[in-house]
Amino acid sequence: MAHNVFTVQFADGKQLFGIKEGIGGQVYRQLFETFDAAWECPRGSLPEFVEPSNALATQEAVVYGPGESWDFDTRASRCALWLTGPRDSDECESERPLDFGIYGAEELQEVRQVTPDGSAAVELECPLCRAVEVHSASTWPFINTDGVFVHSADVTYGVTCRACRRDFVFTPLAE
Ligand SMILES: [Zn+2]
Repeated sequence: MAHNVFTVQFADGKQLFGIKEGIGGQVYRQLFETFDAAWECPRGSLPEFVEPSNALATQEAVVYGPGESWDFDTRASRCALWLTGPRDSDECESERPLDFGIYGAEELQEVRQVTPDGSAAVELECPLCRAVEVHSASTWPFINTDGVFVHSADVTYGVTCRACRRDFVFTPLAE
């Protein structure tokens, strides 16, 4: 049974490789460090891959099929060697309604998190894709004029997840 090898590429140029069965076939989420490792994975007897528990928290934005006319944006974890995001452009499309809603004004999801006084950076879990990323207070210089997050009843931060590129709202809570 034939399989193909696909490539995903991270923002820093790092590539990982995965297995896809013949035309229209299944895309496996397990990734490999090299093309050869993916190619040589025993055909017709692919093991049952199990998602590593840290895959979602460590996912990053990647391009599936870099340089191809049919490339698309998805997500993967380089340390868990796992394709976490959409596996084809149809799955990409089905994520999009979450972004905008049918009428374009869906309420953003909110992360409320205790943030110690003087925090210059916070680790936030994206409520949409569950990637965990560090966000620096200096990203919002007009709010965080002292370089740290502020607690205030009327301060919220609009955050764009770097893994899934969707937006959510962060509200720091006092300890
Ligand atoms: Zn996300």
